[in-house]
Amino acid sequence: MGLLNFDGEPLSWEETKKYASHVREHGITQFLNIYEKLKNRHGDILKWGDEVEYSLLHFDHENRKVQLVLRGEKICEKLMEKEENDPDSCDSLWRKEYARYMIEGTPGKPYGGLMAHFNMVEANMALRRKEVEEHLHENERIASLTVFPRLGCDSFTLPEHKIEGPESNPVSRSLFYPDGAITSHPRFSLLTRNIRERRGKKVAINVPIFKDVNTPSPFQETFPNPEANAASKPDHIYMDCMGFGMGNSCLQLTFQACNIDEARKLYDELATVCPLMLALSAASPIFRGYLADIDVRWNVISASVDCRTDEERGLKPLKNDRFVIRKSRYDSIDSYLSRGTNLCNDLNLEVDEGVKKRLEDAGIDETLAQHIAHLWIRDPMTLFSKKINLDDANESDHFENLQSTNWQSMRFKPPPPKSSIGWRVEFRVCEAQLTDFENAAFVVFIVLLTRVILTYKLEFLMPISMVDENMQEAHKNDAARKSEFWFRRNVQTNDSPQCCSCLFNNSCNLSDIKDEMYQKMSLDTIVNGKPDVFPGFIPLIKTYLNNVEVDIATRCSITEYLNLISKRASGEYLTTAQWMRDFVLSHNEYKKDSVVTDGITYDLLWKCDQIAKGEVEDTKLFCKPKNKSSYSMPPGTRRHNTPKSHMVNGNSNGV
Ligand code: ADP
Ligand code: MG
Ligand code: MG
Repeated sequence: MGLLNFDGEPLSWEETKKYASHVREHGITQFLNIYEKLKNRHGDILKWGDEVEYSLLHFDHENRKVQLVLRGEKICEKLMEKEENDPDSCDSLWRKEYARYMIEGTPGKPYGGLMAHFNMVEANMALRRKEVEEHLHENERIASLTVFPRLGCDSFTLPEHKIEGPESNPVSRSLFYPDGAITSHPRFSLLTRNIRERRGKKVAINVPIFKDVNTPSPFQETFPNPEANAASKPDHIYMDCMGFGMGNSCLQLTFQACNIDEARKLYDELATVCPLMLALSAASPIFRGYLADIDVRWNVISASVDCRTDEERGLKPLKNDRFVIRKSRYDSIDSYLSRGTNLCNDLNLEVDEGVKKRLEDAGIDETLAQHIAHLWIRDPMTLFSKKINLDDANESDHFENLQSTNWQSMRFKPPPPKSSIGWRVEFRVCEAQLTDFENAAFVVFIVLLTRVILTYKLEFLMPISMVDENMQEAHKNDAARKSEFWFRRNVQTNDSPQCCSCLFNNSCNLSDIKDEMYQKMSLDTIVNGKPDVFPGFIPLIKTYLNNVEVDIATRCSITEYLNLISKRASGEYLTTAQWMRDFVLSHNEYKKDSVVTDGITYDLLWKCDQIAKGEVEDTKLFCKPKNKSSYSMPPGTRRHNTPKSHMVNGNSNGV
């Protein structure tokens, strides 16, 4: 409630809309103030940190049902007390998230340039889990689960919320996801309502269903509601509100660069890595109780906050709106940021020309100006009555308002005013893994990759339209093993500028050189390397590690992490998504009709919990040479209800 007092009342969409130009204009003033002060800031050291979102589960062993517990917000408030009293002593920091069953944890302080810090990530994640566990009741569990398989199914929350129709949920008007699951902090319901009102109707999410032998064909659900029937597509799983996307979890990473140019370089290079890491971290094969034909959450969140009007989506001629916009405000980035990348910026960028001109007039180069001017095509989605007129020299709320609701694959983060923080970039695509070990492996791998990119001055850029192609490819069922992704054949440079020299030559046509410069490669090739094709991220990282001092314990951990990433890429280990999919397909309650029942979900998430605790290992998911112990049965489980294959320390994945 503190926020209400500080910030005033949340404004309705009609009121917020009236201030949209005001927020945009002052947001740019605030950005220019930061830029002017800090554009030459140099010499910041590497700092980095992870963010993991967790869900709280309740297991009802009697009825073999697992639900999302709506206590995350309350537990978060308790966990934040320590930070309020003595922030410097905190090993972890906690933040509320979109849903009441969620909670976000980060390390208490960012990590730095020491190699030994790579050995702290997993331990810190384990500590975070423990801190939450201290607040859990019996049969409650914390899970780093990307998507709850039965999100939006009958009684998926605890306490349960009955939904009679859209009227039950005045904020989202969802038929499936109760407003009561949205965290009470006003920002979240305000975003939900305003996105829907701006769009002029509910958001519509349609995920291709995985068609099994007994799945109705065409698969078409009927709903007691005309809008839902019109919006749902045949052979798709239909979902209708923000909670289906923002109620999912992920793993994010932030890096501090030594200066703005290095931040821009990292932003660009890592943008090409996003689709690869999305496919490799895939953990979302089930939506609203159905097996999907995709493995990742990305497009689902994108659609869940798609506030574009019919005009903006190109369905009606432009009359009241400013632009036709290709993408939702949650999507992959549309342009690179470094100077000299313009030929690789081959997407038609929608920009606010007035904003672009203002930035250029202030001395900002075209590439950075168009990046900001592209973010500025959006309207602010939330506004509070006491936060309208701000001190632009010392505050950045209007800048942050638009910046933080452009949810893209990468984020370029300018320093906050009056802070010691430098220029940062955020890597936002990874799906959350079940265990601290796996999450740490992804974090360490990506941080090491940034060191390799900078140390060896590597160059991954390709036309950004190809990165978008890769993003869609990454969604496919089993993309990690089956898909091929565009990547650069030669990533070495002679300390070259941002794009390959040929690309600087305007007479050279991009499509002519495309085949020569880029090739479709498997993740195995890109990550592990293939002679005469590509050196491989892991061999490059190993070369780097051979040239730095690393203590033995840290080196052992890094070796285990790289081993996990390597084997996920080679297909020897399954992605979390494939592992979950196999679990469902081989479950004795599964009727080959794409339906993931309460019972299957209960067994699946119980097994996930055992894996997360290190009480059981599944050698198809990963193999970690520690904490070997046998699987314990969920208390009270009737033996005949548990498929035999789940009882032992073995795999349940044989399809
Ligand atoms: P977001 O805006 O994405 O929520 P957070 O403020 O939650 O970002 O921080 C994300 C991560 O950035 C955390 O892991 C945190 O430790 C880390 N971090 C904090 N300060 C810095 C810094 N100066 N440079 C890099 N990372 C930092
Ligand atoms: Mg955060
Ligand atoms: Mg973040």
